[in-house]
Amino acid sequence: MSTSSTQVAARASAPDPSAPHLPLNRRRLIAPGPVEVEPRVLAELAQPQMHHRAPDGVAKLMQARAQLSELLDAPGYEAVIVTGSGTAAFEGALVSLVPGNARVVSAQAGKFSERWGDMARHFGYDTQLVSRPWGEVLDPQEVADAARDAHTLLVTHSETSTGALHDLAAIARAAKAQNPDLIIIADCITSYGVAELRPEQWGIDAVVSGSQKGTATPPGLGLLLLSPSAQERLIPATPRGFYLDMHRELKGQMGGNTPQTPAINLIYALSASLERLLSVPREVLWAEKKRQNDALLAAGVGAGCRAWASRSSPAVAVLCPPAGISGRAVAAQLAVMGQRALPGQAPHEDTVFRISTMGYADRYDALGIAGILEDALTALGAEFERGAGVAAAWAALK
Ligand SMILES: *Cc1c(COP(=O)(O)O)cnc(C)c1O
Repeated sequence: MSTSSTQVAARASAPDPSAPHLPLNRRRLIAPGPVEVEPRVLAELAQPQMHHRAPDGVAKLMQARAQLSELLDAPGYEAVIVTGSGTAAFEGALVSLVPGNARVVSAQAGKFSERWGDMARHFGYDTQLVSRPWGEVLDPQEVADAARDAHTLLVTHSETSTGALHDLAAIARAAKAQNPDLIIIADCITSYGVAELRPEQWGIDAVVSGSQKGTATPPGLGLLLLSPSAQERLIPATPRGFYLDMHRELKGQMGGNTPQTPAINLIYALSASLERLLSVPREVLWAEKKRQNDALLAAGVGAGCRAWASRSSPAVAVLCPPAGISGRAVAAQLAVMGQRALPGQAPHEDTVFRISTMGYADRYDALGIAGILEDALTALGAEFERGAGVAAAWAALK
């Protein structure tokens, strides 16, 4: 044989699962939440039980809240830490900022943005949808026109179900040009701490996230950051919530107290994780997370997959597998290999699979995942030149 590529292809088949071998060392979460957590952060959870009213507990709450604002480079934004998940923080923002009968516009292009429209309807708001098909990005002017007379716009920055990063800056600019009083509540659940996010410049009133995504902490905390004007517009004693009354919660937390018992252990862990994220300039963090995700996308494309989103979020690589292989099959094969990925969300479980280095992961995690993805696709019968995915990932990381 004159060239080596066919020999390489013949030699480098997928590992034989029936052959005896030591268990894989590296079991890993590569799903877009919950994500890998730094051992030092997990160790925070193993301390003797702390008390949220003790001076240390109060100081930790204040520290975590300040760190959350610092990650946005927006000192005027006050953080509220909610015990719950990202959805709880979103619900708190909605019911605490939007009066009954107000008109709400929900911009949708995937599973999570659809949830916010469902939530607004559930609470009886006059809800209007502006939609794009899954995988596409929202058209800023179309969203702005829909929100011309609305009280509040609900929009998702990084749509984790499709892998699309919507142009939140352009959407907010267009919407506020036509409706300066509009409140924008943004689901930044997988963009906060991952993608470029400048709510002060962009005009975002409420930024929502959750601990188990970009902040690389175990699940259990919803994160809400409110602009100065949003703080002013919080409804005292909203009739649509008690536990999630953000007016009451913010007032308490600004003084170092939560009205209820907070998940104080998780707040210690969150603070430790934020310390790592804040150890470099935000631009460095964003660029590194984008490189890692570009490497995952490149690895998939090199192995015969196709990126789903027209404008990719750095939080998650959403890939259409080669013909004849389903998204569920890829996720199941990766699970056999110790890697917890996710298929698409209904009704697209078979259209795509989703992999991510959003949490505690570095470039060599991305490279390792590229190699495992090649093995998984080979085991499922995909045909491509072995090494092409890893080489593409490596090129994306340089
Ligand atoms: C994970 C996720 C949610 C849901 O957050 P929970 O923490 O599960 O409540 C909402 N939106 C996006 C974009 C997400 O990725």
